[in-house]
Amino acid sequence: AIRVRYAPSPTGHLHIGNARTAIFNYLFARHNKGKFIIRIEDTDTKRNVADGEKSQLDNLKWLGLDWDEGPDVGGDFGPYRQSERKDIYDPLIQKLLDEGKAYESYRTEAQLQADREAQKARGEMPHYEYEYEGMSEEEKNQAIADAKAKGLKPVIRFRVPKDRDYAWDDIVKGKVSFNSDTIGGDFIIAKRDGMPTYNFAVVVDDHMMQISHVFRGDDHVANTPKQLMIYEAFGWQAPKFGHMSLIISADTGKKLSKRDESVLQFIEQYRKLGYLPDAMFNFILLLGWSPVGEDEIFTKKEFIKMYDETRLSKSPAKFDSKKLEWINNQYVKAADDSTIMDLALRQLISGGNIEEDPDEKTIEWARQLIMLYKREMSYMAQINDMASVFFEEPEEISGDALAEISNETAPVVLKEFQKRIQALPIFDSVEVFKTIKAIQKDTGIKGRKLWMPIRIAVTHEMHGPELPESVELVGRQKAIEHIEQTLK
Ligand code: GLU
Repeated sequence: AIRVRYAPSPTGHLHIGNARTAIFNYLFARHNKGKFIIRIEDTDTKRNVADGEKSQLDNLKWLGLDWDEGPDVGGDFGPYRQSERKDIYDPLIQKLLDEGKAYESYRTEAQLQADREAQKARGEMPHYEYEYEGMSEEEKNQAIADAKAKGLKPVIRFRVPKDRDYAWDDIVKGKVSFNSDTIGGDFIIAKRDGMPTYNFAVVVDDHMMQISHVFRGDDHVANTPKQLMIYEAFGWQAPKFGHMSLIISADTGKKLSKRDESVLQFIEQYRKLGYLPDAMFNFILLLGWSPVGEDEIFTKKEFIKMYDETRLSKSPAKFDSKKLEWINNQYVKAADDSTIMDLALRQLISGGNIEEDPDEKTIEWARQLIMLYKREMSYMAQINDMASVFFEEPEEISGDALAEISNETAPVVLKEFQKRIQALPIFDSVEVFKTIKAIQKDTGIKGRKLWMPIRIAVTHEMHGPELPESVELVGRQKAIEHIEQTLK
């Protein structure tokens, strides 16, 4: 049976790279009618943050993912938080100790540091040196008893077999192999506080939870040989592994770094800006995976149907924020007006351009405004900037715009327009349009010479959405004032 998992450490918000891991596991499970499981890897207690788990799960749900087993929904293989599985790990660690496959290590951080410096001086890669090297079993036991007597607490290290190749057929990368002598020596499987490390707990859990395939980031490749050693030590069969390519910035070509604040990398940030979840899902899944053919926009259902893990790419995935905006704009254009209205209205409120709890009239005004910009928006927060002419007193007319109205016909058009909209029984875009047409007929002024002065006088901008709608949204009173100022 196909069982895959996404195993976040609750150390912060959901990162783009982790969201991608979750999505690929999810699609693999759903495509193959398998199970998708969430497991919280929280044994590194110092790195956990309050609400880290909640935020991870909330953001996964926002992206449209659902899971069959997990800390919130339960399941037959729980608990789904590693911090609650100590009773499962402890006897297994003891088993390795009893079989001589692991041992207590008392080397202090200072000693380890001194070792590393000596190694560097000898031109070697830093590694752990077996602290009982050359000792008889008796001497080793004595050393351990002495350390215990001093009240020292050990870490537990896994005894790495010498000069062995650990290889696997990676679903993404093909054949990968590590010689056991190159992995840095006997590694820690339980810390001084008794908590297992990631490399140990992940093996136990993937085995106990009957995980069949592990898709995860490239950064875990070097952990895989260590995990294979533990599978071997227990005589368990390892799952199939697929390590997904790095995500690099399309601008710099460098690996996306969580610390680089010039790129938004957390799902939460996009959510706040009013990106659409389906669009984000679509964008993220194209990071390192591609459908057959040229089309890149599909529904989630279609993606599930066509998902094929053999199309995961070996080469780094480019994170291109322009593409993200393009995809989002496709989804915005296709979305229901009411969805866009709700989301954008929230942005207008949080942007301080519309008061909280707007009245009916304001909502109707906002609706018209939002619909005017719907096709242009990639994400909803843009409405605040795009539509700023409707909220703020415009800047002085200058430059090209000033040149555009510095002619003989502009004042004629503006005076006519001002006079006629003042007298309109109903002031809306339809009437404004008719008014402009009437001015054309009566004065013979047309085209740019007719439209441009009105646009510039009313909005102080040379570009914007449809002119009659823009005039309506600025409002009769303000439009007249703006024209008066321009005519002065
Ligand atoms: N907790 C690990 C991480 O967040 C999971 C790695 C794995 O999938 O094995 O990177």
